[in-house]
Amino acid sequence: MAASPSIVSTAPSTVAETHCPYCALQCGMTLAERDGRWEVGARQFPTNRGGLCRKGWTAAELLSSPERLTTPLVRSSRGDSLTQASWPEAVDFIVSRVRALQTGYGRDAMAIFGGGGLTNEKAYVLGKFARVVLRTKNIDYNGRFCMASAAAATQRMFGIDRGLPFPVSDIPEAEVILMVGANPAETMPPLMQYFEEQRRRGGRFIVADPRRTPTAASADLHLQLTPGSDAALANGILFVALRDKLLDEAFIASRTRDFELARGAVASYWPDRVERITGVPASSVQAAARLLGGAKTAMIFTARGAEQQSHGVDNVMAFANLALAFGHSGKVGSGFASLTGQGNGQGGREHGQKADQLPGYRKLASAVDRAHVAAIWGVEPDDLPGPGLATMELFAALGERGGVRGLWVMGANPVVSAPRAAELEERLARLDLLVVSDPFLSETAALADVVLPVTQWAEEEGTMTNLEGRVLYRHAACPPPAGVKSDLEVMGLVASALGRGEFVPPTPRAAFEELRRASAGGKADYAGISYERIRENDGVFWPCPREDAPDTPRLFAERFATADGRARFFAVQYRPPAEEPNEEFPFYLTTGRVTAHYQSGNQTRRVRSLLEAAPEAFVEIHPAAASGLGVLDGEHVSVVTRRGRVTCRARLTSTIRLDTLFMPFHFAGKGRANTLTNDAVDPVSKIPEFKIAAARLERAPSD
Ligand code: SF4
Repeated sequence: MAASPSIVSTAPSTVAETHCPYCALQCGMTLAERDGRWEVGARQFPTNRGGLCRKGWTAAELLSSPERLTTPLVRSSRGDSLTQASWPEAVDFIVSRVRALQTGYGRDAMAIFGGGGLTNEKAYVLGKFARVVLRTKNIDYNGRFCMASAAAATQRMFGIDRGLPFPVSDIPEAEVILMVGANPAETMPPLMQYFEEQRRRGGRFIVADPRRTPTAASADLHLQLTPGSDAALANGILFVALRDKLLDEAFIASRTRDFELARGAVASYWPDRVERITGVPASSVQAAARLLGGAKTAMIFTARGAEQQSHGVDNVMAFANLALAFGHSGKVGSGFASLTGQGNGQGGREHGQKADQLPGYRKLASAVDRAHVAAIWGVEPDDLPGPGLATMELFAALGERGGVRGLWVMGANPVVSAPRAAELEERLARLDLLVVSDPFLSETAALADVVLPVTQWAEEEGTMTNLEGRVLYRHAACPPPAGVKSDLEVMGLVASALGRGEFVPPTPRAAFEELRRASAGGKADYAGISYERIRENDGVFWPCPREDAPDTPRLFAERFATADGRARFFAVQYRPPAEEPNEEFPFYLTTGRVTAHYQSGNQTRRVRSLLEAAPEAFVEIHPAAASGLGVLDGEHVSVVTRRGRVTCRARLTSTIRLDTLFMPFHFAGKGRANTLTNDAVDPVSKIPEFKIAAARLERAPSD
């Protein structure tokens, strides 16, 4: 964690308690105005206990960024430039185009793409706006790129999707931790204090990752697996546990069902075979099984490394099988968990901006759920559209005959963050209408017909739900610049122009009160959560069904959230990724994050110190592999996959496998990693396979 860089000049005029605008740890911080500028301060909060990473310390810089948009921009016709417009002009433009394309092509021709950084209020209203104001079925969001595999797997196995079923303060209680495809030392540095405390108490830490990341380097045991072989590794551990009788038979008998399915599925995963598939020595597979089997308490975490694969759901289920088989669930210091990435990656997937979902984790396909939500919204259940297209299906329909002709992007930058990004750019250019709401001219906004300047995190109140399922409150700590409106205001203006303004709550508080009623009785039940209760208690954990009921920091102590209260095992088989290396593309290309940047970099690439720390894309390659290609450290190289080619500097490091390349995905232009990534999706979660593409490296012509 970095120290605060600020030098005090005068006393701050106002100090507001708030939370970081970036990742799902949602670190507590203060925001104070000093000499006309906003600056961040440390705050004791249960998740970060005063710590912030460099992104958090510098977050206030964006509030006074000279790159801030303060007036709508409109492109009258393709080929023209974006020009400034008034809000009424921008709204008229949107409404006339929406009417025209829905009249010509049907309601579903207009689509929405939301974001996992939107507050709960905005995510909730966005889902309602799509289905009740625009009356389209087509809304999905960028959480499809993040948490979809973990969400699908934990729904199936535990009956509920909450990233961590325990507070982060429980982490030191675990005797053993197995972390798969996660690198919090770089992505969430303040979280590491809990893992460090676990180690100080004598706990053991195992990390499975193709790279020896800073997190893996701190582990007692690093399982440096072949990209895409996660399920084989998990099955190998379960094979050893069965063979060596390390399982918790009593837990399996009393708290689970279908164990025989998992038992049968792993019968052929003996350690030598697993070593051949994963590259992890058989002795390490056995060591991991013995550590997990010998512990009274253990936690197993997955993250995007295992989840962003065309078999991401299987991978998660294979590791969750382990947590159940060892009996490491439903007690303090134990549990299966997935580390959520985006700021509101948890709340953003609960309240209706997902293609198949209604608020409170209700389902559009359920007549009972539709009736409940329709009554809250004041419409007939039959007026609600059915489930829409998941993100990659939606993107494939853009500009197609009978497909989607208009798209409104809110809180996302898919031109940088989507796989096969160059093709997406082409598809966006075919639309009749592209609207982007953003505080900045993101790469996606730069392609839009209408760009709407909207508020940032500290300029509007609202709630976020962090990786623990803790609902947090963020103040409107500072006023937005003149000309900027909140997403809620914008949706209200467009809804009014379409004659349906009564369906958009006028304020965040009104939206949250409606969300509480809409979620009541659902899996993600917020009925008992109020702004006041959140502020008085450092957040409130859902489910929380009544104001006089306790919240739920820990799940599954007595029962799982399935119909019979038992967790369910699944049979998982290892299947190779959609692309494997061959003679033409001899490497696995995998992608991920660096400490200085967040997601598509639309915010952090505008913060000077963060850009100086990580100014451009790079590709990590093992020195022995580089030597074979004649590539030198720092030299420009081309990374090539079946989707395209990018150019960036080579970074030689022995922390990566010989057969693997790594690129950060935060950068646009010629260093855009997602020009290269594979859009093959998991059949259940529809998450793209960001983590594995077959690639080759070429020396670039000049430096
Ligand atoms: S980016 Fe995440 S870890 Fe860093 S300060 Fe913000 S919330 Fe905390």
